[in-house]
Amino acid sequence: MRDLRHKQIETFIEPFRVKPGKRVVLARDFDPAFKAGVRKKKDGEALLAQGVELLAEYQQKLAAQDTYGVLMTLQAMDAAGKDGTIRHVMSGVNPQGVSVHSFKVPSTEELDHDYLWRYAKRLPARGEIGIFNRSHYEEVLVVRVHAEVLANQQLPRAARRPGIWKRRYREINDWERYITEQGFRVVKVFLNLSKEEQRRRFLSRIEEPEKNWKFSAADVHERGYWDAYQKALSEMLSNTSTEWAPWYVVPADRKWFARIGVAAVLADTLMRIDPRFPVLDDERRTGLAAAREQLEAEAPGAEG
Ligand code: AMP
Ligand code: MG
Repeated sequence: MRDLRHKQIETFIEPFRVKPGKRVVLARDFDPAFKAGVRKKKDGEALLAQGVELLAEYQQKLAAQDTYGVLMTLQAMDAAGKDGTIRHVMSGVNPQGVSVHSFKVPSTEELDHDYLWRYAKRLPARGEIGIFNRSHYEEVLVVRVHAEVLANQQLPRAARRPGIWKRRYREINDWERYITEQGFRVVKVFLNLSKEEQRRRFLSRIEEPEKNWKFSAADVHERGYWDAYQKALSEMLSNTSTEWAPWYVVPADRKWFARIGVAAVLADTLMRIDPRFPVLDDERRTGLAAAREQLEAEAPGAEG
């Protein structure tokens, strides 16, 4: 039963996986409107409910075992639906076992450290699922697209010299490998939105009053750098999808599909860990028996 569920999930997410070493051109290799044979939103609802239930089940075991942890990073262009995806996908899990962190423009204190410092501080604990809403990958995306952001990082000359992006890919791969070897699975998702769907979503943020709060003129400005981002994203995917920390490109033109995709990627990650409830050793079992005897002796009306 478990194996069958896992097989289905593996098959479902296979088209999203970026094979390590593959040279990715985002627009050529991944379709933001792909639906993997799920025809309508309605057909997707049962799938998402199943995924959410599976996550709840596995998260409980992950926490009980307290040995492994999971880090899922979410990257996307603006309006791709990161926040809504996190809300839906994590809706069934115990909030105590999850940590979500959103990374914004770095603070002065953060800029005074090496670039991975602030991400390392937010890593999940054993037994936890940690979600990065934006992540250390901003360090090869926004920082690459905007030269002035890099200039702001107070780097010594050696860290700024040509080849900086290749070096950062290597540093990130090494860091993720280290984390993995310590018992934390790292899984990375890019929510793949088309430029046209972004335009529609920005427009609806203007036209629908209850969405006005989401609208940001800065986001529209950033849209002007679309091509530069697509290029930086393609290079990022080509260089940082590894055996130990793979990238998944999840189609995001339909919000409902993106949610199923992300739930499936996370479920696959947990199923690979295959966490188990701890089994008590003889000593603990004897302890339990003694405690039971004592509690039963304390029952009202019991002798003693
Ligand atoms: P949002 O996620 O829409 O609230 O926006 C967060 C903003 O922070 C985005 O514009 C990101 O590009 C920006 N940001 C995140 N990480 C970094 C970073 N390391 N350096 C500069 N800007 C960043
Ligand atoms: Mg924004």
